[in-house]
Amino acid sequence: MHGHEPFTSPSVADAVVDREAAWLVSYAVHSIHTAGRKYPEPPHEFCGPYEIDRDRIVRSAACRRLSHKTQVFTGEFGDYHRTRLTHTLEVISFARALGRTLRLNEDLIEALALVHDLGHPPFGHAGEAVLDECLSAEGGFCHNRHALRIVDVLERRDRRFDGLNLSQEIIDGQRTRFEPSAAGQPPLEVQVVDAADSVAYDTHDADDALELGLVTLEDLLELPLWQEAARRVGRRQEHLGGKNLRRAVLGELIQWQLADLVEHARCQIRLQDLTTVADVRHAQPLVVAGDRLAPMKQALEEFLRERVYRHRDVLRSRQRAQSVLRQLFALFCRSPELMPPGFQNRARQVGLPRSVGDYLAGMTDRYVYKQFRRLLGRLPTD
Ligand code: MG
Repeated sequence: MHGHEPFTSPSVADAVVDREAAWLVSYAVHSIHTAGRKYPEPPHEFCGPYEIDRDRIVRSAACRRLSHKTQVFTGEFGDYHRTRLTHTLEVISFARALGRTLRLNEDLIEALALVHDLGHPPFGHAGEAVLDECLSAEGGFCHNRHALRIVDVLERRDRRFDGLNLSQEIIDGQRTRFEPSAAGQPPLEVQVVDAADSVAYDTHDADDALELGLVTLEDLLELPLWQEAARRVGRRQEHLGGKNLRRAVLGELIQWQLADLVEHARCQIRLQDLTTVADVRHAQPLVVAGDRLAPMKQALEEFLRERVYRHRDVLRSRQRAQSVLRQLFALFCRSPELMPPGFQNRARQVGLPRSVGDYLAGMTDRYVYKQFRRLLGRLPTD
């Protein structure tokens, strides 16, 4: 081993290596340093490893099913509001904007963002709470952990092995969402996805709640974050009202939060004199809201928790969904022959409750209701 020779990996195309070397900062994750895949694969002619990961995730059944999974509001609320899939698209869009500005690895960012909510069961956190309770003796259920189970075990793309055989950086990045890493802070690409997730749900949950009439624009304009965004909008465009004001404020909120994240990250990067990914690991978290914006964001989140996530209508639909999921869980545990053969076989390896949990977690909201009607009759009324 000659210490002075640059590290080269046979698994990454030269074009990708050159492009990243020319554009990415030294403390970004460069594809050439990938730890590779569990099952080694020949190099791709022109795609980098994280582009390959992205394509595998996009083509997975779990990813397509996000289109009929709840973000906050189930389908019975109409079809304006976000689903888990459109939420994910917004996260990708914000995360890539941040990554490009900070000259990070956008391919890795995109793949990480696509995976981040892949493990959500039907009915979002309401469904997660039921599965966690039903599986309490088996180690519980956590959507972040389940995303890894999907890409590592449940999805199939090659008859020789389970899972999608993704790059180790995707697996490690997702793992930091539920387990602190002994290696320190996650790479900036992971931090950017986390920050983008928060920008996305803080703004779109308020937008959805407005559209559904759960809160009013006046309610939101009492919050310092919305007040200031409206003031900024007012400086450019006077006399906006109603939906035009709402749209303009939402756009402003997104741009303001993204700009704040970039400014804060740049400032910290300069102060801490970063040069390598290892430096990022030993630094404080870098992609976080600045001191002025952070408490305003917190106040909005508190408002959303009280007025939206715990709104009577949301709780009612949540209770119904939970009761349906609980009954289906009990039914499949009593009569595993009602599940597809793959999940019956899996039960022999991982135990029946976990296999029932995997089956239910993979369902869309509407498929849960369809199965309930087919197997147990009328849906419970509120
Ligand atoms: Mg999310």
